[in-house]
Amino acid sequence: MTQANPEVLDAPQLDHGVPFNLYIDGAWRGTEATFEVLNPANGLSIASVADASNADAQAALDAAVAAQTAWRGVPPRARATLFHKAHALLLQRADIIIRTMTLESGKPLTESRGEFNLSAEFFLWYAEQIAHLHGTFADGSHGGYRVVASHQPVGPCLLITPWNFPLLMIARKAGAALAAGCTVITKSAQETPLTSALFVQALHDAGFPRGVINLIHTTSASSISASLMEDRRLRKVSFTGSTGVGSKLLQQAAPNVINASMELGGDGPFVVLEDADIDFAVEQAIICKFRNAGQACVAANRIIVHRAVEEEFTRKFVERAKTLRVGNGLESVDVGPIISARQRQRVQHLVGTLKDAGGEVLAGGKPIEGDGFFFEPTVLRFAEAGDALCGEELFAPVAAIFPVDSVVEAIAFANDTRFGLAAYLFTKDLSRAIALSERLDFGMVGVNRGIMADPAAPFGGVKASGLGREGGHDGIYEFLEPKYLAITVKDPVETAA
Ligand code: NAD
Repeated sequence: MTQANPEVLDAPQLDHGVPFNLYIDGAWRGTEATFEVLNPANGLSIASVADASNADAQAALDAAVAAQTAWRGVPPRARATLFHKAHALLLQRADIIIRTMTLESGKPLTESRGEFNLSAEFFLWYAEQIAHLHGTFADGSHGGYRVVASHQPVGPCLLITPWNFPLLMIARKAGAALAAGCTVITKSAQETPLTSALFVQALHDAGFPRGVINLIHTTSASSISASLMEDRRLRKVSFTGSTGVGSKLLQQAAPNVINASMELGGDGPFVVLEDADIDFAVEQAIICKFRNAGQACVAANRIIVHRAVEEEFTRKFVERAKTLRVGNGLESVDVGPIISARQRQRVQHLVGTLKDAGGEVLAGGKPIEGDGFFFEPTVLRFAEAGDALCGEELFAPVAAIFPVDSVVEAIAFANDTRFGLAAYLFTKDLSRAIALSERLDFGMVGVNRGIMADPAAPFGGVKASGLGREGGHDGIYEFLEPKYLAITVKDPVETAA
């Protein structure tokens, strides 16, 4: 550790402290190489973490492969019991997990708590699915045999998660995979390895057998994913992150035809029609835009407002954005830092590009001087809908408002993107809401809601936003494959007659 951060050292620790190593085959193991994890609120190192090599990743795959047959054979109820034990341990350790999440990702404690609660709910949801998987039994179309279809685990999986929801992403993926009877190698994001380590520690302490879950952190993500996917024993990759990396992983998965689920980037349109409840729409837009400092795949990317209400919406939205308190997530703030100095530079450049494209800055617009990687909550208004963003994901505390003259224009502009993750629609007319949401080319539509992740919902996108769903009844099937048995049936009574 180059520069210790007293905030971490003073934090209430588990008996053994926050684990900084890799977790392979049921044990924590160090590596010679390490990398630093920074607190984006002050730029200081909070931990020095083991840096996995290709050999470590192969060891994790060996362990996952060795454990696969026994794990799929663990009866559903016994598997669910392990989940319940791990869930109880996660709840007991909520404070240290929440604090660690804030320290390494920068998000305010209230947001870390919200993410913790949702992650625990997801884990519980999958525990409840384990004993409720159904198959089918049917007559063969031409008689003489029966169609029996059940589901079996895909096999050892590689789970790759991003830094912006460090607990939710691993809980949602690993929860589904383990519930389905798959063994996993999880690769956490380099920026936020500690939260996932605490999650894995809870599973270890709950008694998950060795090899069933393995955790690696690395500075060589590309080389490790390539080497793992060259190995035919790996049967699935489930990735959450940017569309560029997702597309590379699909190429790496192609030669061995590895099953793939992709939760990728978004360009969420937030559409406010002339009959919307404006005050409510403003509040939801603030949450949807500035939660996690705008670094969310489902964040409102283009706020599209009917011109009849655009002046009122924009005035109230700007007033509200100016009240947001920005600062260290451990304090009482609304918006934390950007994840890194490099990302903050990207945001600054992005604001310049938007201004050049005709955006008028109504609030913020600049980095905040001093320690950490803070940026002012920023609002830009454009005179009309256009290609100012060119389908780019802002991924920043930067809101862009576009007036439109009609519903037709609103929907056309909303759909004019390569992405298709989340869209939002604000109107008081239910029939109109249903009809228009069916026209929106997105995997999810929030109707009079700016936030919609839920364990019971199939979360995911279409187009360049991904393949597959996480959560809901669909989530677990991403990690299962149907197995069809054709069984000849000869009736002995009829044969004898
Ligand atoms: P990223 O794609 O840079 O990284 C995501 C993960 O992939 C990290 O673990 C990273 O180490 C790893 N990675 C990076 N390059 C890799 C490579 N060549 N091979 C293998 N692994 C590699 O994304 P990010 O910056 O961490 O996260 C932001 C992106 O994630 C945004 O585009 C956001 O929209 C998206 N995201 C999507 C969802 C969703 O559910 N759809 C959720 C959260 C974030």
